[in-house]
Amino acid sequence: MKTENKKEVVTTTDIKLAQKESYNALLSGNRQWVNEQLKADPDYFKKLAKGQSPGVLWIGCSDSRVPANQITSTKPGEVFVHRNIANVCSHSDMNMLSVLDYAVNVLKVKHVIVAGHYGCGGVAAALSHKQFGLIDNWLRHIKDVYRLHSHELDRITDNETKVNRLVELNVMEQAYNLCKTTIIQNAWKERSDLEVHGWIIDIKSGLIKDLKVTTGGPDILGYVYELNSEELAVH
Ligand SMILES: [Zn+2]
Repeated sequence: MKTENKKEVVTTTDIKLAQKESYNALLSGNRQWVNEQLKADPDYFKKLAKGQSPGVLWIGCSDSRVPANQITSTKPGEVFVHRNIANVCSHSDMNMLSVLDYAVNVLKVKHVIVAGHYGCGGVAAALSHKQFGLIDNWLRHIKDVYRLHSHELDRITDNETKVNRLVELNVMEQAYNLCKTTIIQNAWKERSDLEVHGWIIDIKSGLIKDLKVTTGGPDILGYVYELNSEELAVH
């Protein structure tokens, strides 16, 4: 019994040491990155500190395998980023709406990209009937996408194929959700250089697939979603 307890203590210590090492690795990794940047350009951080003017807003999944900058070979300052589980764009999410509003109206980005990825755990979880806790409420947004496209998805028998098709449909619906917001609709009234896109990252190849659902104006909006600011002013 004594030996068993001792073994357990050693194992816990090992885990704690490994945790500390992986934590410290982040800080040493940062110092290494800073040194590399300064070596290439001694004024790099002076320039970076002056401000940002990214041309793109990236709304992606929180999955650790799909970081916006690395995947698109862009540098700090080039992409404004919002990420959440399964890249959901909900009109009741103040976080997403605040990011979108700031990106569109202050930073004046020209491209808003919803970037999903094949094999998305959030989408796969939404396809199951298990309870995961609080996140079930978030995943409901994806179940709603399923319901909209159930005629197509119900016919797919292979689970991986079904998950990946729902990943694509989810990106399309979330991009469409962005177009329904007053933020995007009002911006389109003021300028013609704002586009909303839908992309998929194929983690198995690293390549991005453009779903070709790019929208640069309100034509695709169903009548029910059209919001007229002049009508508001009458009241
Ligand atoms: Zn994901």
